[in-house]
Amino acid sequence: MSAPRLEIDLDKIYHNARTLVERLAVRGISVTGVSKASLGCLAIASVMLRAGVRSLGDSRIENIEAMRNAQAAVPMTLIRSPMLSQVVRVVTQADISFNTELDVISQLSSAAQKAKRIHGVVLMVELGDLREGIMPGDLESTVRETIRFPNIVLKGIGTNLACRCGVSPDANNMAELSELADSIDAIFGPMLSIVSGGNSANLEWALSGADTGRINDLRLGESLLLGCEPLHRQAIDGLHTDAITLIAEVIESKLKPSQPWGEVGQSAFGVTPSVANRGNIFQTILAIGQQDIDPNGLQAPSGIEILGASSDHLIVESGRCLPAQVPRSASS
Ligand SMILES: *Cc1c(COP(=O)(O)O)cnc(C)c1O
Repeated sequence: MSAPRLEIDLDKIYHNARTLVERLAVRGISVTGVSKASLGCLAIASVMLRAGVRSLGDSRIENIEAMRNAQAAVPMTLIRSPMLSQVVRVVTQADISFNTELDVISQLSSAAQKAKRIHGVVLMVELGDLREGIMPGDLESTVRETIRFPNIVLKGIGTNLACRCGVSPDANNMAELSELADSIDAIFGPMLSIVSGGNSANLEWALSGADTGRINDLRLGESLLLGCEPLHRQAIDGLHTDAITLIAEVIESKLKPSQPWGEVGQSAFGVTPSVANRGNIFQTILAIGQQDIDPNGLQAPSGIEILGASSDHLIVESGRCLPAQVPRSASS
């Protein structure tokens, strides 16, 4: 088998997805399974669907296209505002897209007319995290314009928090989204079937027993795959946090001093690491690096400590008395 590779336990992802689908159903909220972290991997998308997610969401049209070939009938949402250069692909492959710009919606409308399709739009509202979103005061006028476009159907509104600035979803901002949904329906007639409250960072709020108001959808990726919530990166009760294992091969293992010697400038990645002197340690190199992974996002097996990484080398301490070994044979 080739390395590096990810070993993915689909049963654990199924368990995580099923558990969250059930817990949220009690609160009146359905789940959109977000597939971007797995690049639209079909096996993972299928497991999410089997576990009961209502639809699939991805930020890249390429991933939606890949899933569409195999899952023709499943509702799919592009959860990033479409690029103007991709509107034809978006109306062809995605049922719904998240939008914040009338110019984009206008071009989606033209493309949908040409393709003889109806395209659904969810308008994203800015509630403080300062990533995408229409300012709340501009929502009414944007709805008024959006519903005039031919072949465009306004499906709902949504918001996204805790991504750029870490603003937490809470009773206040979620109540604001609910009130916006109520006021749009009051002005234009009931038309918002989706009120999408956010991502995995919303789980603490959604499962706290607080009033969930009009929010009836959450878009979940990280919590299904990793079993943790992204605000404090704590494990979610009852979920698996070890569904995905990264396997890399040992290419060097030696007893070496823990401290570098010689004059020290910047490392390859622009930092000057300060390293405490702990005498000699067993230092092991794995054939994987920053070109493949974010070393800060890895959790090492117990007894192993990650010391650093360059573009193609991950350096770990393999225990004081237990050297890892370069495998004798790496044939598959
Ligand atoms: C990535 C993304 C999500 C999923 O976020 P997780 O923290 O992985 O659950 C939801 N909504 C939008 C708009 C996203 O870009």
